[in-house]
Amino acid sequence: MTNSATSRNKRRNLQSPRLASANMLYSSEDVIKLYEISRNTLTNWISDGLQFIAAEPRLFLGACLNEYHRQRRHKASQPLGHFETSCYACKQRHSLIEGQLFITPVRTDGLFKATRICPQTGKHANRYVTGEQLDEIYSLRQSNPGSQTPD
Ligand SMILES: [Zn+2]
Repeated sequence: MTNSATSRNKRRNLQSPRLASANMLYSSEDVIKLYEISRNTLTNWISDGLQFIAAEPRLFLGACLNEYHRQRRHKASQPLGHFETSCYACKQRHSLIEGQLFITPVRTDGLFKATRICPQTGKHANRYVTGEQLDEIYSLRQSNPGSQTPD
C-alpha cells in the first residue's frame, strides 16, 4: 500500500474506525482521545444512543462503543432517503422532515435549497428540492409528531 493510500484510509473515519477493546472500560476523556472528538460530540453520541455505565464519572464499555459505531456505519451505508440530506460535517444523514430547516429559493426554475442544521455540529447540510417536494416536506413536517426532536 502506498503512503497516499494509507493517509486516505485514515481520513475515512466511517470506513475504518478506531476499535475500542471490547472488555475495556473507558472514561469520557478516554473516549474523546480515542476518537479525537469534542466533549460536545460525545454528548451528542450519547443522545444518539451510545450506551454508557451510569457510574460517577460515567464509563463506556469498549463493546458498546464498537457497537455504536457499527450502527452508525450501517445507517450511513443505506441509500439516501427521499427527504434526507447527507451531512459532510458529521458524516450522517439528516431528515428534512424534522429539526431546524431553512428554505432558500434558487435562481433556477422551481428549485429550492433546503438547508438542514446539523444537530451534532450546527453546520449546514444542503439538498436541492423542487416546489412539489417542498410542499410534501411541509405537509410531512406538520403531521410528524417528532418534528421537534433532533433526528
Ligand atoms: Zn450532521
